[in-house]
Amino acid sequence: MDYRAFLVKYAEIGVKGNNRYIFENALVKQIRLALDKCEGEFNVRKESGRIFVDVLSDNYDYDEVITWLQRVFGISYICPMLQVEDEGFDKLKEEVVKYFGEAHEDKNVTFKVRCRRTRKDYPVESMPMAAGIGEALLMAYEKDGLKVDVHNPEILVEVEVRNHIYIYSHSIKGPGGMPIGTAGKAMLLLSGGIDSPVAGYMIAKRGVEIEATYFHAPPYTSERAKQKVVDLAKEVARYAGPIKLHVVNFTDVQLAIYEGCPHDELTIIMRRYMMRIAEEIALKTDCLGLITGESIGQVASQTMKSMMVTGEVCTLPVYRPVVGFDKQDIVDISEKIGTFETSILPFEDCCTIFVAKHPVTKPRADIIRKHEEKIKDKLDELARIAVESEEVILCEAAD
Ligand code: ATP
Ligand code: MG
Repeated sequence: MDYRAFLVKYAEIGVKGNNRYIFENALVKQIRLALDKCEGEFNVRKESGRIFVDVLSDNYDYDEVITWLQRVFGISYICPMLQVEDEGFDKLKEEVVKYFGEAHEDKNVTFKVRCRRTRKDYPVESMPMAAGIGEALLMAYEKDGLKVDVHNPEILVEVEVRNHIYIYSHSIKGPGGMPIGTAGKAMLLLSGGIDSPVAGYMIAKRGVEIEATYFHAPPYTSERAKQKVVDLAKEVARYAGPIKLHVVNFTDVQLAIYEGCPHDELTIIMRRYMMRIAEEIALKTDCLGLITGESIGQVASQTMKSMMVTGEVCTLPVYRPVVGFDKQDIVDISEKIGTFETSILPFEDCCTIFVAKHPVTKPRADIIRKHEEKIKDKLDELARIAVESEEVILCEAAD
């Protein structure tokens, strides 16, 4: 089928009143960015409360367009539409019959026709139009089992008369959520693991723009480990849009903690410094919160007590969208969004370099603060240098 247009449907809940045009404009912008990734030329337009994509060029790749539209948050359904010209109602009936024949292999189904006329000079009104087309479809396919069901049809055939006439009956599910750019920005603590890319995806799905911070510890962690995080950022960027990745050299901070603090508290104190540094960068870049991939009880540093002690150093809210997820639930999402294969590549993370055999699982904030206090001046100075020497990498969506 030669689809030359797409109708983009979005869930309207929460987009009433003044918010509606902000939502729609953000969605149009994100659709354009997604289509920029596709071969061919397209026009995206708003028309009477709906969003249309027209294919302008002769050549384009249908599957590629669907793949990229399915990554645009805010889209609930994508309907590929057959576009025909007005050559009289009899011709239109023929077109719909031909369309149905090609679009639905199985004719042993129930259906209903719904028509809409935005061009009021079309000579047939919506109701008789639907009845006439329904009759034509029955004449053609009743012998194959096609039946009308006006209440609960398996297939809804829609015909819209505008400047062109559109015929459609397939709805392809979009990702849902809210368009990027409708909810402010947040800073993702992005490691090379499975959880944090998923956490970033989930928050982006609510319309939040993402920046990211990665702590690397050369020479203990390799260039390849860093490249893996860049690759993950590019994969998340397919959904979230371009991500600015702040790469912070964490080696000296880690070494100072290793030398100056009890080893069973290493991870907690190290994580407190990660949060502090990420927050500092977040505040400078107008982020309204931090995002981590923590999940209760997954490891020693993610017990509720540990998260309380790491979270207390921040004034910004810390969003932990996978906090109540089992590992398998997180893995399922990472497979679905395409980050899993990169996440499981075997490169070292700075968290795994300096680990104690028996890390505390129930840290006490007062004791941690006391130990940290002894080397705080030195750590703060090293943290400041680390922030000043950050490297910023713009990660555009991977193909
Ligand atoms: P992930 O799969 O996201 O790496 P994890 O299960 O390995 O998570 P931890 O290593 O304890 O868990 O990290 C918890 C969270 O802290 C991560 O989800 C991430 O948000 C952040 N984090 C950990 N290491 C780094 C790092 N090197 N750079 C930036 N953030 C990090
Ligand atoms: Mg990790």
